Amino acid sequence: MTKRIAIIGGGPSGVYCALQIKKNNKDIDVTIFEKNKALKTLLATGGGRCNLSYAEYDVKELAKNYPRGEKFLYSIFYNHSVSDTLEYLKSIGIETYIQQDKRIFPKSNSARDMREKLLGELERNNVKIIKEEILSLKNLSNFDKIVAAIGGHSGYELAKQMGHTITTPAPSLHGYITKEKYPSGITLNINGDNLLFTHEGISGPYVYKHSSLNAYSKYPRFLEISLLDTEKLKEKLKTHSQKSFGNTVSDFIPRNLAKVLVKNFDKQGAHVTKEEIENLKTLSFNIISADNKGEIVTAGGVNLKEIDKNCKSKLNKNVYFIGEVLDIDGFTGGFNLQNCWSCGYAAAKDICGN
Ligand SMILES: Cc1cc2nc3c(=O)[nH]c(=O)nc-3n(C[C@H](O)[C@H](O)[C@H](O)COP(=O)(O)OP(=O)(O)OC[C@H]3O[C@@H](n4cnc5c(N)ncnc54)[C@H](O)[C@@H]3O)c2cc1C
Repeated sequence: MTKRIAIIGGGPSGVYCALQIKKNNKDIDVTIFEKNKALKTLLATGGGRCNLSYAEYDVKELAKNYPRGEKFLYSIFYNHSVSDTLEYLKSIGIETYIQQDKRIFPKSNSARDMREKLLGELERNNVKIIKEEILSLKNLSNFDKIVAAIGGHSGYELAKQMGHTITTPAPSLHGYITKEKYPSGITLNINGDNLLFTHEGISGPYVYKHSSLNAYSKYPRFLEISLLDTEKLKEKLKTHSQKSFGNTVSDFIPRNLAKVLVKNFDKQGAHVTKEEIENLKTLSFNIISADNKGEIVTAGGVNLKEIDKNCKSKLNKNVYFIGEVLDIDGFTGGFNLQNCWSCGYAAAKDICGN
């Protein structure tokens, strides 16, 4: 008899899982139930360019980019790596490229195009998409297996119904509203990650990483960054003693920021005090709250102790959980989508029985 699979949720994880089942066995009947539009969430990824993965091919190194889920992902990535994902995407006509910072995008630089290609592939493989919100598993009793690919937050109710515990959700990968306001638009590079000053506070990959690592810390939070190398500044002030303090500092940090931070901007380098130099060593931020603009994922989700290495529920052998609904989340850089692809593969492989 034909195996019937229901996938709840037509986000990246659900769609990839459906395609991997079909790749493995065309005869399996796959239906996606999506309350909204399939792959709508993909459109906003990577600022519309879809940062679909990250070029790290060592499984353990890759997994280090997930503050929650690192160890769980070892075997998941081992079985379906970044290279496997890229190879599969290529096979369905999605060419990719690797940016200098190792982030991977479709060659089209278009999340819309990526979405259309994936949807086209679903159609070619006769995967049905039904617009329906699944509120209870009872409605799916005529399916052999169920894959819950229901994303953060909205999916937790269904998981609870199935007896699963949910690790408390918390927002991750967002900017901050800070007490200190600096001119917006300035960017600082801190150990390779950019920090961006916004109207309300700070944002950018460096801040996203901080919000991810501190997802469960209470507000107010405090952040101190190294601003400049004061030894190098001292040297330069010595060798350019006639140059103004502000102009010399502007050789190290953006001029707009120097204008705000250097009180005696026009003071000659020769007359700058030790204290004035030391004041520029670090920059501190009193963080009031999260700024909801940015790339937001949810930390928390279905407890990984209740899920096996194939993403199958240990409480119900016919149910799988994949993607963001799990207590897994990564930094910004394509890691969250890679989690979706690799978990989608794991469930598909188990469902197909190989
Ligand atoms: C603005 C933004 C930008 C991002 N950019 C990137 C990026 O560039 N790279 C990256 O790696 N990650 C990025 N992310 C994170 C990434 O989008 C998510 O990790 C990913 O979408 C999670 O996929 P998913 O399939 O698990 O869940 P979702 O994408 O949330 O999909 C779940 C789907 O299930 C449906 N659903 C839920 N419950 C039910 C139900 N009961 N019945 C029927 N349907 C249901 C929902 O409507 C939804 O379509 C970004 C996130 C945001 C918000």
